Amino acid sequence: MNFPVKMDNGDIKVFTGYRVQHNLSRGPAKGGIRYSPHTDLDEVRALAMWMTWKCATVDIPFGGAKGGVACDPNALSMAELERLTRRYSTDISLLIGPETDIPAPDMGTNPQVMAWIMDTYSMHRGHTFPAVVTGKPVPIGGSEGRQDATGRGVVILARELAKRINLDLQNATVIIQGFGNVGSMTARIIHETGAKIVAICDRYGGVWNPKGLDIPSLLPLSNHDGALMESHMGDSISPTDILELEADILIPAAMESQITIENAPRINSKIIVEGANGPVTPDADIILNQRGILLAPDILANAGGVIVSYFEWVQDLQSLFWSEQEVNNRMESMLMKAWHQILEVAEKEKTDFRTAAYMVGVKRVADATILRGIYP
Ligand code: GLU
Repeated sequence: MNFPVKMDNGDIKVFTGYRVQHNLSRGPAKGGIRYSPHTDLDEVRALAMWMTWKCATVDIPFGGAKGGVACDPNALSMAELERLTRRYSTDISLLIGPETDIPAPDMGTNPQVMAWIMDTYSMHRGHTFPAVVTGKPVPIGGSEGRQDATGRGVVILARELAKRINLDLQNATVIIQGFGNVGSMTARIIHETGAKIVAICDRYGGVWNPKGLDIPSLLPLSNHDGALMESHMGDSISPTDILELEADILIPAAMESQITIENAPRINSKIIVEGANGPVTPDADIILNQRGILLAPDILANAGGVIVSYFEWVQDLQSLFWSEQEVNNRMESMLMKAWHQILEVAEKEKTDFRTAAYMVGVKRVADATILRGIYP
């Protein structure tokens, strides 16, 4: 859709937005909304497909969707962001709904944006529909634990892969590319385990200190692009060079296509945990596999977010809310169940974890398609 938004200076600007539903055979469509200057239809439909496999791999009853608006959210005022969000929500309100398609945050969006979407949708219908989006602020039907769920899941997978090379997470060194929601929450939680974060960056650059960074002092700088670099709390490092530093665990938590055929031969970590969707290109994946680098694929490693989104939707529908501990425990057990299923398939089929995760996820979608049959 193309839609006009009144800017603060009186100008009218036309924005382009998208919502793509990829597959609905296992339940309502589910997936985030991204605000990014690079968003286009191809990106959104690829990410919608990712959501189908992700929801199926961790066995939550949703299909896959994604949305996006081509814009730079950092260049918009709060008022402009709200007007843009409300108009985009109105345009997609024919598609979304608690039973049909449930958005959530993604790159460039946050709980406040979800609150505006929920409010806009509810105003059109005349009463409050908390379950139309997830990742909302807690006071209006958000779930405890949703904000750090993706990072928490990433750390669980980092711990599990580390075990496979007899490495204790608390003795591991870690690099994180990305300091938005996923990168910063991963940093906080992995730091709490005792692991040493040696480098972290946002899209402008970051800091590096082989002795370990003071993460609690850096956390307030998350979602402030460029602030890490200016913090001088370590040597400066670029978002591309950071990937090639030496560490036990590398966590790309920024965006797609960061590890490519070009830099894959120079990756200097033993383990990669994909916090972002699609940070490793398919040809780079082959190289990493040949080099024996263990990789937790995005559709498993970052699924903690959508698992807790599922819990948020369930809590909203029942108007009965769980404690943070309960949310975290349930998330970990769903993620671990999926991980064990993937391990079993990887061992049986003698394949890597990404292929095994796809085998689990695609099979669930295929089974649902066959069971449902062809209408009429
Ligand atoms: N945007 C997140 C993802 O890519 C979360 C989606 C959701 O919670 O629906 O998994």
